[in-house]
Amino acid sequence: MLELGMTIDGQSVLGSKTFDVFNPATGELVGRAPNATLDDLNRAVAAAKAAFPAWAALPDAERQARCAALVKAIEANADEIAHTLTLEQGKPLNGMGSRFELGGAMAWTGHTASLELPVKVLQDNNEGRVELHRKAIGVVGSITPWNWPVMIAIWHIVPALRAGNTVVIKPSPFTPLSTLQVVAAMAATLPAGVLNVVTSDDTLDNIGAAMSSHPDIGKIVFTGSCATGARVMKSAADTMKRLTLELGGNDAGIVLPDCDPEEIAEKLFWGAFINNGQTCAAMKRLYVHDDIHDAVCDALVAYARTVKMGNGLDEASVLGPIANKMQFDKVSELVADAVQSGNVLLGGAPDEGLFFPITLVSDLPDDAPLIHEEQFGPALPIIRFTDVEEAIKAANASENGLGGSIWSKDIEKAKALALRLECGTAWINSHGGLNPVAPFGGAKMSGIGREFGEEGLFENTEIQVLHI
Ligand code: NAD
Repeated sequence: MLELGMTIDGQSVLGSKTFDVFNPATGELVGRAPNATLDDLNRAVAAAKAAFPAWAALPDAERQARCAALVKAIEANADEIAHTLTLEQGKPLNGMGSRFELGGAMAWTGHTASLELPVKVLQDNNEGRVELHRKAIGVVGSITPWNWPVMIAIWHIVPALRAGNTVVIKPSPFTPLSTLQVVAAMAATLPAGVLNVVTSDDTLDNIGAAMSSHPDIGKIVFTGSCATGARVMKSAADTMKRLTLELGGNDAGIVLPDCDPEEIAEKLFWGAFINNGQTCAAMKRLYVHDDIHDAVCDALVAYARTVKMGNGLDEASVLGPIANKMQFDKVSELVADAVQSGNVLLGGAPDEGLFFPITLVSDLPDDAPLIHEEQFGPALPIIRFTDVEEAIKAANASENGLGGSIWSKDIEKAKALALRLECGTAWINSHGGLNPVAPFGGAKMSGIGREFGEEGLFENTEIQVLHI
């Protein structure tokens, strides 16, 4: 059983109390994480604040090199962290599971480290020179969810450090252990206090809320639900914190009648069911033209039957259980409702423990909760349309706007439709793939700001203009 410490000011801190972390595949205890108090948080923030001036003052090339070196620190511990991730989150080691997540974490770290923060000359003439500089903000507080805990931790930590900030991260209480491990590995290569982690199940103190209002934290980067994101924004108001909020999605995919159902089935499937659907930018509603609706349903069912779900430690598994009881109950409730009013093509009832079979439901009424709420699990509604205008309108009717996709052989037509989707990312003939060079984030209720690439890095900076 794992008993891990928090990293605060370069030291491993066990804390006076702990909370248990369970394996969703078996219900067994995986380990214990420290249950931080406000004192622990304050010590972590004070350490980050004290470490900030020296870290921010490093020559940029040196900070870039220190960030690039983090790839090796993750790599040296990748097998152990992937194993912990499978145990606490349920995702398999294999497929697009824990090893894939660690691979992504390293790729994002390397790319982010390589980004430049150039001084931009806005004017240089006989009236004077105007330069735009990008300076670090100070202490960045990171709050992460349980679905891709290691990857999202990296998405928060590395751009913040690269830009010269110091960091305090708080992972989800469902998946704290892999974050404790990855932060310990990274922090060991950095000056004390530059990177800190506190874990909490929010029973002693609400650490996320305290971070959001902390006077010594200059920016919060938060990934999680829309409801909690709105709370973070409210508590951040009094201290005017900079915010990046990556929130929920209800992405629509729209399949035009010129598609070949057999050809697209596998990509459609993984667009929706990556990480068991517990992915912010997974396809959560699938609109299919009536001409090929039934053939697409058949092709999806046939592909889904080939996908092995099981304990993530089994190399044959490519999907695991739902990651926790809270989410399992939510998915169960949405599917129980859908079973009453729709046509169940596959699945439809919970399995043993927290396993929930891949569920495909067609012909639901327009107002079905499975269509309108973020299911964040292995259940997909398939909706028939005859006029693509109806499908675009339905896709945009959501208050969310994270991603969307258009599927067609006619790329120009697909592009024109994709540009009409109200979302931060639109894919053509795929869904959900992310890339460290491409800014990612949500429109409407799906968040504020962007991560990745230059735009993501810039969100970790404060602009200062020099008039010379
Ligand atoms: P959640 O909102 O329940 O929790 C997220 C984090 O916030 C956790 O660490 C939690 O402990 C913390 N928290 C709880 N109360 C808080 C408070 N009052 N103030 C500050 N922090 C608090 O979300 P979740 O269930 O862990 O994650 C699933 C959600 O995250 C889904 O909606 C999903 O779409 C979204 N998500 C979005 C992205 C994206 O990039 N847009 C990526 C992954 C997940």
